[in-house]
Amino acid sequence: MAGSTPFKRRGVLFILSSPSGAGKSTIARKLLASDDNLAMSVSATTRPIRPGEVDGVDYHFVDLERFREMVAAGEFLEWAHVFGHRYGTPHEPVEKALSEGRDVLFDIDWQGAQQLFQQAGGDVVRVFIFPPSLTELERRLRERGTDSDEVISARMDRAAAEISHWDGYEYVLVNDDVDACFESVKTILQAERLKRSRQTSLIGFVRSLSKQG
Ligand code: ADP
Ligand code: 5GP
Repeated sequence: MAGSTPFKRRGVLFILSSPSGAGKSTIARKLLASDDNLAMSVSATTRPIRPGEVDGVDYHFVDLERFREMVAAGEFLEWAHVFGHRYGTPHEPVEKALSEGRDVLFDIDWQGAQQLFQQAGGDVVRVFIFPPSLTELERRLRERGTDSDEVISARMDRAAAEISHWDGYEYVLVNDDVDACFESVKTILQAERLKRSRQTSLIGFVRSLSKQG
């Protein structure tokens, strides 16, 4: 995604949330593949690894004791209980990516979005993705084939709770057609990158354009 201003700017903390199965991982993968300036935040979790997942890529899979140590050592920017497990965002990789001039993408729930916003307000952009319907949400969870009936039913029960936090997000999208939704997400990111409030070297440039010099 080419920028169209030459100015240095503050990094964007770009959050995608949705009820499980609405498609945020799919969109996140497409976004990362299309954008060299974006780093994914890899969370730590106590949830068991699913078939096909890779430790250190999808999540850092840790046991409860290690997770508690990480909390006690202040290693998380935010953390929360989700579906009976704990999930947290390690702060170091986020700070490293920002210091290298990259933006950071987060796949976290509404609790994480709220906590990040408390800490980094103006740098945070929150996008919520709705499924087109509950029937389609359940169909996608089944089609994904990663969860038992019991887990799918728990995810469907939790969907309404996750959806009820839609008004904590600056942007809401419906993931009906995945390519259309992806294009909207890309547009949001690009527009947010261009916001004047993020450009940190404007004053010198504007002075160079003034007649007084
Ligand atoms: P989440 O990360 O929100 O839990 P996923 O990205 O894993 O959801 O998507 C759940 C399933 O739905 C996956 O099998 C994915 O391929 C499929 N999917 C995602 N977006 C769409 C879409 N727009 N139309 C149909 N299927 C989709
Ligand atoms: P899953 O188990 O399907 O990978 O993720 C379950 C939920 O946990 C998703 O809504 C996902 O966005 C959320 N999640 C993943 N990592 C984090 C995290 O670090 N913090 C918070 N608050 N939520 C997370």
